[in-house]
Amino acid sequence: MTTQQVYSICGMCTVRCPIMAEVENGEVRFLQGTPHIPAMKGSICPRGAAGKALIRDHERLQAPIIREGRRGQGKWRKAGWDEALDEVAERLKAVMQQHGARSVAFSDRGGPFRDLHQAFVRGLGSPNYTNHDSSCARNVMHACKSLLGLGRKDVVYDFKNARHVVLQTRNIFEAINVQEVNNLGEALANGCKLTVIDIRATISAAKASRFLLVRPGSDYALNLAVIHELLMQKLYDAEYAARLIKDLDRLEEFVRAYTPEWAETETGIPAGEIRRFVRELSAAKPAVIWHPGWMTARYMDSFYVCRSIYIINALLGAIGAKGGLPFANKPGDFGRKGLKKLVDLVPKPEDRRADGVGWRYKHFDGGPGLAHLIYNAMESGEPYPIKAYIAYRHDPLMGFPDPDRLMQKFEKLDLLVSVSFTWSDTAWYSDVVLPLSPYLERESILACKNGLKPYFFVRRRAVAPRFDTRSDWEILCGLAKRMGIKELAFESVEALWEHQLKDTDVRPEDFDATGFVNLADAPKYRKSEDFKFPTPSGKIEIIHDKLESQGLASLKPYESPKRPPQGQFRLTFGRCALHTQGHTVNNPMLFEQMPENVLWINDTAAAALKIADGERVTVGRNGYSETIAAKVTPFLHPEAVFVVHGFGHRLPVESRAFGRGLAENRFMQGGLDIWDPAGGGIAMQEHFVTVSKIR
Ligand code: SF4
Repeated sequence: MTTQQVYSICGMCTVRCPIMAEVENGEVRFLQGTPHIPAMKGSICPRGAAGKALIRDHERLQAPIIREGRRGQGKWRKAGWDEALDEVAERLKAVMQQHGARSVAFSDRGGPFRDLHQAFVRGLGSPNYTNHDSSCARNVMHACKSLLGLGRKDVVYDFKNARHVVLQTRNIFEAINVQEVNNLGEALANGCKLTVIDIRATISAAKASRFLLVRPGSDYALNLAVIHELLMQKLYDAEYAARLIKDLDRLEEFVRAYTPEWAETETGIPAGEIRRFVRELSAAKPAVIWHPGWMTARYMDSFYVCRSIYIINALLGAIGAKGGLPFANKPGDFGRKGLKKLVDLVPKPEDRRADGVGWRYKHFDGGPGLAHLIYNAMESGEPYPIKAYIAYRHDPLMGFPDPDRLMQKFEKLDLLVSVSFTWSDTAWYSDVVLPLSPYLERESILACKNGLKPYFFVRRRAVAPRFDTRSDWEILCGLAKRMGIKELAFESVEALWEHQLKDTDVRPEDFDATGFVNLADAPKYRKSEDFKFPTPSGKIEIIHDKLESQGLASLKPYESPKRPPQGQFRLTFGRCALHTQGHTVNNPMLFEQMPENVLWINDTAAAALKIADGERVTVGRNGYSETIAAKVTPFLHPEAVFVVHGFGHRLPVESRAFGRGLAENRFMQGGLDIWDPAGGGIAMQEHFVTVSKIR
């Protein structure tokens, strides 16, 4: 029996860790993080380890299917690949003929392999590539751009060398990124302080040296007080600020009234504790990381929370610093050529985006735009109709608020296609479902990881597909061929890789030994002194002209968040280490570990309602209700209830997940319209529910 080691990329969440699969007789026997990247330490998280169970799962999608009944009825006809791709291509052509190429939209979940997706949509002639990000990280992205002129991934988090890490909108030990967790763990062992600011004592909070329980929705008040204290007590890095921050005087004037005493009344965090915290931060500068967040589609002011975090990092001199947020290097920073972009193979469409980004909303990053506004165009036909939609590994009916309302918008589509390796609510509602091979069964295009030490990496197929499923490139290149986009009609993944590697001095076989190719010998820290920020002034800009010209404030005065009406709670949600959004809850291995979510409720609030731990309760809003088991705990703010996101599946094809737990997005009626015009993110934690004992 021979054991083969295959280097590939995990696909169980959006982090995409480099992994090594041990394969024997066509079966994956063992999975681990690559031993060749020190920060991986050979480890993967529980979800990554469950990739084996995904392969064996008979309840995943197994062949292309075409809808026969009405949408969502669950009546399907099994199809061969040629038939399914022909069907999609013919229907796309019909839509394009009637409404123009711009009437096609495509969404994914972002990530390093999106170049092919963007190229495909562009090749069709549509500007409407989008992703899930308005329900995730758009606020932090726009906050970063508005201050630094950089994207959020143009700086990295140097956890390993940090002396104080603050997690406010990030729960790193549960919403796991393996390398970040390992690096932070190492830093903590070496004396790095960890402060966690949250409405709930998470696993991250359990590891913290300081936990600040903040009133839900009042984070901005705390951060304004921190800025106040840094500036008024001269605890910031004055030399860095003088050199690199523009409009510091405006900031100083703005935060003058936001004292720690004032913040105490808003947040519940004692003023003295805020002062001690700020002094500790100052003592650790510039090796401080106040993480600006990832999933920040939460409150109406989340964009300003993210903005205030970048401002704090700047005041501490942490942006560009070792142990802080150093600048990410690209291949060119080491004199190397980057991968050839597939998107450059096809011309950029001239049409304006259907979501208004770039023309109506000039302050937003063009990239993926805002999906919820593209959904509006499906219904309203404004600024023009969207009539065909391809959801690629994206389940908006689970990830966005108010799925019933969203289905009404999808109902206006002539064609809805899902590409997915598991069932999803959106796949179930689609006209055609194209089954993607799970990551251990598929190859993807090459990708580049920018960072202190950038590298190219490859996802290789560890085992042959068990069912009639295909790789992403096979599906999209197959469609491209049928749609007449000859530039993208690659016949093999090797041809794709060779194209991407043109002029790079790297060959496909260079990935054989480890699965990646380093583009530098050692990490490089670029000095902030030598760095010119890509903003009009070349500095970090507190006042962002594009925001101001849209009538939006760069420095927004604080507005106190609504207190829940009597007898109600703010509905909040988050992640755990065992599941990735909705797509792992039916995974046999992970289901066994965590079959359903529970409703966290504060113990004092529960006692007032006579609710005992473990008891089933009814959660309700606007006449809609569901039941769920209560977790009564002192470790949650009394104004909120909390659930882990991704549960409450109702698809009969998922026997394990069916009917287990609660989907919080069904309680967000009207939530598609609650979004922040400054940051672009949906505000998903602006909803209140009742909780009652079942009598
Ligand atoms: S964090 Fe876990 S699930 Fe995500 S890519 Fe890494 S190993 Fe896979």
